[in-house]
Amino acid sequence: MQFNRISQKKYVGGSSLNYFVSPYNKKVDLKFPEEIKIYDTTLRDGEQTPGVCLRTPEKLKIAKKLDELGIHQIEAGFPVVSNEEQRSVKAIVKEDLDADILVLSRTKKEDIDAAIDCGVDGIITFMGTSDLHIKSKFKMKDREEILNVCINSVEYAKDHGLFVAFSAEDATRTDLNFLKRVYKRAEECGADRVHIADTVGAISPQGMDYLVRELRSDLKAEIALHCHNDFGLAVANSISGLLAGANAVSTTVNGIGERAGNTSLEELIMALKLIYGVDMDLNVNVLCELSKTVGELTHLGVPKNKPIVGKNVFRHESGIHVDAVMENPLTYEPFAPEMIGHQRKLVLGKHSGCRAVKAKLDECGIDVTTDELCKIVKKVKRSREEGKYINDKLFREIVKSVRGPFDI
Ligand code: MN
Repeated sequence: MQFNRISQKKYVGGSSLNYFVSPYNKKVDLKFPEEIKIYDTTLRDGEQTPGVCLRTPEKLKIAKKLDELGIHQIEAGFPVVSNEEQRSVKAIVKEDLDADILVLSRTKKEDIDAAIDCGVDGIITFMGTSDLHIKSKFKMKDREEILNVCINSVEYAKDHGLFVAFSAEDATRTDLNFLKRVYKRAEECGADRVHIADTVGAISPQGMDYLVRELRSDLKAEIALHCHNDFGLAVANSISGLLAGANAVSTTVNGIGERAGNTSLEELIMALKLIYGVDMDLNVNVLCELSKTVGELTHLGVPKNKPIVGKNVFRHESGIHVDAVMENPLTYEPFAPEMIGHQRKLVLGKHSGCRAVKAKLDECGIDVTTDELCKIVKKVKRSREEGKYINDKLFREIVKSVRGPFDI
């Protein structure tokens, strides 16, 4: 059920203001980097969501949509995984999108060769640096061994003219002095960027602030953040890291990814834009469509209460809310759904009032008396409480039962 006839002029004071966030946001002086880059990893970490497998045409479709949004870099995949994966990456490279195309590669020569063969602009090469990873994963004796492996791969990729990012996996649980040494060596070997991977989402926004400041004072290379959402802090951690001196963030559409997922692209972009006033000049009006596309192609759907893009984000049922929203949507919405290609819906149900029902009747072109309206409202509430969803068909039946057959 959809009646979305609230005109733009209804927004505050009839002005063109289409969002309204807390004025207290501006009370604190915050300094973001001049330029923030987003490297979206929906096609790599997002695809690593258990049960998700994207074929070439699907990856291509998502890559094109990300490019339409104006994203700076797309992490298109992990070429060494399979032949199909390599075909997908090659197909994306062939599209000649505005976004730079990066791929993931281990520190192994064969991985970097696979990336070079795909014709990508750059790689993200990674290695676990925490003692936990060194001992349990690589069965290596000590940190020095790791250091050498990392360095060789950065040099090899740079020799082939690639943009090279070196990612320390589990960086947020790595000894700080060792982490500094690894990044410093990567930088000396020509790495363009170092990535802090919060692999299990284990850091706090304050911890991230500390870590990035420590690294920033030590390094010249760009610093990027790859945050996971195990505690629901991925977006907050990313923003905290940017404020501390990082200048690139990894995201995924709908926040999909391993376990609880990654920093959500749409949440990060819209929080930066509206809450913090940092506009990256992206075509945010494609966000909803992008979210829907990824939800469908991954078969993960989009949770109804997913911030920014979820169906319920602009749905209202309670009579009190609907009344206010019809007067001015900003009473119960922080921004206009049109901004991201979303749609407002007023839902009829247990909490509906006369105004919502009247608006629906108006949309159907049905005139009723006040008495009839009250009866219809009562029946709508009762039907919902009886477990029925008030769709258009049921609504018409209710109206008919109150005032007899009608034509529209
Ligand atoms: Mn990850």
